[in-house]
Amino acid sequence: MSEQKTGKLIIISGPSGAGKGTIVEQLLKDGSYELSISCTTRKPRGQEREGVNYFFKTPEQFRKMIDENAFLEYADVFGCCYGTPKEYVLNKLSQGKNVILEIDVQGAVQVKENYPQAMMIFILPPSEEILLERLRGRGTETEEQIAKRFGKAKTEMAYADRYGYKVVNDDLMTAVEEIRSIIQNS
Ligand code: ADP
Ligand code: 5GP
Repeated sequence: MSEQKTGKLIIISGPSGAGKGTIVEQLLKDGSYELSISCTTRKPRGQEREGVNYFFKTPEQFRKMIDENAFLEYADVFGCCYGTPKEYVLNKLSQGKNVILEIDVQGAVQVKENYPQAMMIFILPPSEEILLERLRGRGTETEEQIAKRFGKAKTEMAYADRYGYKVVNDDLMTAVEEIRSIIQNS
């Protein structure tokens, strides 16, 4: 009997508005990847649904999960807590599935420490102006929240060199194909 191969763990990070969610949505279409759904204490926005976009938690529930060691990583991002549930990810990997984590730079560093074989892909916007346009165009945050996210983008982009791969999301499908080929060839 052949032994089951462990799946690949793929970390996707980048500043808010760079297009991570849009890219991941495309990657998921061919059924080659599983997306880890994170827990967050942030409130749902727009069409977001429990268990589809996030598992929405109260700060108390989130704290309990930290105490139970239920997270592969967790971090405070824009004043809310976000964390990757450990059990789901490790189960999928052991079943030979490729798992995508769409997480921030602090979380990525934690995962890489514990799981050095993880692939790290950083998504960059074509320019700062376009990043701001995309954040505004998404229409899901207030101008104050946009300013906070845009303000943090520079700090986040300083982490890009720690990532094995950097992909500029200019034309969406070109970026998606580039990422597919990075994953397949690694
Ligand atoms: P993130 O998940 O990184 O915060 P999103 O995926 O929500 O970013 O994308 C932010 C906005 O930019 C969305 O309105 C999305 O439709 C748009 N967008 C994403 N990628 C592109 C692209 N390549 N060209 C034009 N618009 C894009
Ligand atoms: P948003 O509020 O736009 O959904 O996400 C804000 C930021 O939190 C994004 O940079 C996203 O990648 C990050 N994020 C989402 N889930 C997690 C997680 O489980 N852990 C960490 N560390 N960051 C996350």
